[in-house]
Amino acid sequence: MANHKEDLAIGIDLGTTYSCVAVWQNEKVEIIVNDQGNRTTPSYVAFTPMERLVGDAAKNQVARNPTNSVFDAKRLIGRRFSDPLVQSDINLWPFKVIGGPNDKPLIVVNYKGEEKRFAAEEISSMVLKKMLEMAEAYLGTTVKNAVITVPAYFNDSQRKATRDAGGIAGMNVLRIINEPTAAAIAYGLEKTGCIGKKNVLIFDLGGGTADVSLLTIEKGVFEVKAVAGDTHLGGEDFDNRMLKHFVEIFKRQHKVDISGDSRGLRRLRTACEKAKMILSSAIETTIEVDCLFNGIDFFSTITRAKFVELNKDLFRKCIELVKKCLVDAKIDKSCVHDVVLTGGSSRIPKVQQLLRDFFDGKELCKSIHPDEAVAYGAAVQAAIMIGMGNEKIQDIKLLDVNVTPLSLGTDIEGDVMSVLIPRNTIIPIKKEGVFETTEDNQTVMRISVYEGERARCCDNNFLGEFDLCGITPAPRGVGKVIICFDLDINGVLNVSAEEKTTGVKRKVTITNDEWRLSNEEIERMVQDAERYKTEDDYHMKKVKAKLDLENYAYDMKNAVNDENICAKLSPAVQKEINDAVEQVIEWSLDDRQVKDLKPYQDKLKWLEYLQSHLTKR
Ligand code: AMP
Repeated sequence: MANHKEDLAIGIDLGTTYSCVAVWQNEKVEIIVNDQGNRTTPSYVAFTPMERLVGDAAKNQVARNPTNSVFDAKRLIGRRFSDPLVQSDINLWPFKVIGGPNDKPLIVVNYKGEEKRFAAEEISSMVLKKMLEMAEAYLGTTVKNAVITVPAYFNDSQRKATRDAGGIAGMNVLRIINEPTAAAIAYGLEKTGCIGKKNVLIFDLGGGTADVSLLTIEKGVFEVKAVAGDTHLGGEDFDNRMLKHFVEIFKRQHKVDISGDSRGLRRLRTACEKAKMILSSAIETTIEVDCLFNGIDFFSTITRAKFVELNKDLFRKCIELVKKCLVDAKIDKSCVHDVVLTGGSSRIPKVQQLLRDFFDGKELCKSIHPDEAVAYGAAVQAAIMIGMGNEKIQDIKLLDVNVTPLSLGTDIEGDVMSVLIPRNTIIPIKKEGVFETTEDNQTVMRISVYEGERARCCDNNFLGEFDLCGITPAPRGVGKVIICFDLDINGVLNVSAEEKTTGVKRKVTITNDEWRLSNEEIERMVQDAERYKTEDDYHMKKVKAKLDLENYAYDMKNAVNDENICAKLSPAVQKEINDAVEQVIEWSLDDRQVKDLKPYQDKLKWLEYLQSHLTKR
């Protein structure tokens, strides 16, 4: 089928720490390289007194501007401010997050001298817009359509919020698909051949999170059987272990503790991450940091074996997640047909070896770069959805079947969580439970609904409640109430309660939608996004004008002082030009703020005029 550029659709892996974008073109998937030549882009947005930065530029200035550099928006998207996970993450972030209307978390930054508040959807939309622009620059055309991936455990509210982020970025989001499904598509695992049905384990170990999913694939239907994960296990933890090790070595070598020196630690951590990556291919490497502390240069070596020893408990934790996922899916490891690696940290040889050993020597699917496999699969899906691609990829009828990421239950028996729908149950699902009255002559029963895995309801996430009134008075334990949890395909939960004898009934619907942005809010954010884009473009123009002016001035200065040229100029003209150039350079460098566009253009015109006029004299 012919590829018309205008009809292209891209696949975006919107990651917690890094994002990746890919496109199906020329009969294959192409991973799109960003303006820094990188195939993945940091999911970072930074705000400065002058400009807004996204991607590498934002990550590179974090040390100088920590409170206005936002990352990890994916950990916030579609969640409530009071969510315990959000509360514990807030303590780890240098930027400020507050609770907004409807318990929605809002990120607070200072941008151009003013306080600004952003929803996680807006920050994610800025990352998505960056990925879209990269794709447009690469393809040389505008692109509208995109498939975006999300973790399999994302609930309906998180999925909708991600879709909204795409909308704010001006995209037509063709579909939101599960990251493990995209990875399986990247390897063409939907082609089940004579097996008919395949069990595929996706092992995703990134910078900050570990996610294991078990999919069954049958006739183009991808069913998530179980998910297991750790929201704080990944590459950053391995870097920290190495960092601690080298802080100790430095202490031994130089009798100083640098653990209180944040700048030194940051530089050492960066060196550790680099060393860690090298140790995925080499068995030994060096660490070198000039002037690490009080002018002392640091030099040391580390072997792969030492790195493994420093992290062995964390690597073991990864395998525990695999075991948990298989237990939840009720699938024996011998029945797993394929094991797919995704996430940058799955490159670590020891992690791969532990996985291979666990699966009794099975070869792992790792031929596609692990940090690109999800975007790769999303691009294939995007091509299918707009009717592109070739016979290789035309027959995937993708259908993601989702499970509940958290158990749902009530607190009828004191603060004990009585689970009605266990974690990892395929939705839609309807479950009932019979509960007894807990007091003599009880006429009202309060039904509170929670999600979570903790034994006590107060440790779980509260979703809503209602009272069932009019229960027939009777001794405790005699009155019986049937509580029904009905969870539909969109994650909307209907909870109803009915007293058996009288037939008194009440119901509450929990939609997960209260925290969603309203259409008006989305419209405002779309307009803001356009305004930010215009401001960014204008700032880039100003920076270019400043550079043009300085280049021109320095060229002029060099020319005037060049023996061959200055011999032709009178000393007076030479001085006049030199003075003018010095004045312009001083003016341009004087203020750290980039000035307005027009003065740069005017000064450049003035220098051009001087050059042509004076050199003619
Ligand atoms: P992701 O979030 O999937 O992009 O993964 C990012 C994480 O992968 C970061 O912690 C990186 O340090 C880590 N990573 C990338 N390449 C390698 C490598 N070759 N060996 C070990 N870790 C890596």
